[in-house]
Amino acid sequence: MLRKSLFISALALAGSAMAQEGWYQVRVSVPDQQTLTRLTNSSLDTMDCVPHLGSADVAIGPGELSKLLAGRFQFTYVRPLEDPRNWEERHKSGSSIQVDDYRLHYFDADQILAFFENLRAQYPILVTRKPIGTTVNGEQMWAYRIGRPLQQGSLPINNIVIEGLIHAREWITGASIMHIGKMCVDGLTSPQPQAFMQNQAVWIVPMANPDGYRYTWTTYRLWRKNRKNNGGGIYGVDLNRNYSTGWGQNGGSSTNPDSETYRGTAPFSEPEAVAVQGLVNSVGRVGGFIDYHSYAQLILWPWSYTTTRPPDLAMFQNVAPQLETAMSSTGTNYDQGQCARILYIASGTSNDWVYDIYRKPAFGIELRDTGQFGFELPENQIFGTQDEVWLGFKKFLTIVGP
Ligand SMILES: [Zn+2]
Repeated sequence: MLRKSLFISALALAGSAMAQEGWYQVRVSVPDQQTLTRLTNSSLDTMDCVPHLGSADVAIGPGELSKLLAGRFQFTYVRPLEDPRNWEERHKSGSSIQVDDYRLHYFDADQILAFFENLRAQYPILVTRKPIGTTVNGEQMWAYRIGRPLQQGSLPINNIVIEGLIHAREWITGASIMHIGKMCVDGLTSPQPQAFMQNQAVWIVPMANPDGYRYTWTTYRLWRKNRKNNGGGIYGVDLNRNYSTGWGQNGGSSTNPDSETYRGTAPFSEPEAVAVQGLVNSVGRVGGFIDYHSYAQLILWPWSYTTTRPPDLAMFQNVAPQLETAMSSTGTNYDQGQCARILYIASGTSNDWVYDIYRKPAFGIELRDTGQFGFELPENQIFGTQDEVWLGFKKFLTIVGP
């Protein structure tokens, strides 16, 4: 109540043209497509991974209340936000994090890479890595392959590609994909044969947006896009709007370089998207693809760029409910559906592109939560999220398996 009244006085301050201070999450009413378009094309920091009709949560920093008021948006207060700037500075812990702590703590970029390097050092035959490209800021990007090596004369291995952290602030996706890596290795090394890794290889891109992820630790916790310099002091392309399938169509992305859903100057203009594209095209027989996001607890399938049904509608209507059941089995409720129909149109997404080219099960999965904590999911929820992600992914492996 106290916080609410403070916020009301902040509103009053803004109304009297004085600077509003502090950071807040507010819920903007989105009754129609016109409002949604205005919001997604604005420079406001929308906090939903895929903005949609109904309502959208927005993070506002000092002085930004005036943008909402000037845009004549209707909104209500949700909660105060911790200042997302210089997050790392304020959260530095004295002790160094151990590899096993990935179930209890968020890992920064170097720790995530160290985690996979540690797996590779332990199992150099089963875990290998491949350089897939270089980011805008010049960082090497990696994919890790987990699976038995190809043997001469053997059947072609089925390849599953998954990626995390394409949206930098969706930290739980990085934690979850580390757990998938660990469990796949366990499946291969367990004394009892684990059917889900039979004749399959899992390719993991732990950080699909390393520049953005580093930026969320050092500078701004709620950063989403990559770190492309768009000129005029404006940065970032939404990598999940930069793929070629449906690029720029149906209002599912923005031409405003300052928007959270800025699509870039051309399909595959961004090296990070090109890197994942090249990986998928290089693995051999593609069996499936998952791009992890947060937050909404939704299993999304193509198309995202149009409400038209995908050619393999029956397949998606068969697979997605099975993933939903597996991910919901420990008590967290997930739902499923075609992205453009149950959320809103998002054009130029990675899973639309993989499905377009390979016609295999390709999903975008939104992890916890449904808005209470949003991107800043508390560390005590990492463990449980990892468990439900693994149950879903294991089910996926058995469904798409050869
Ligand atoms: Zn996302």
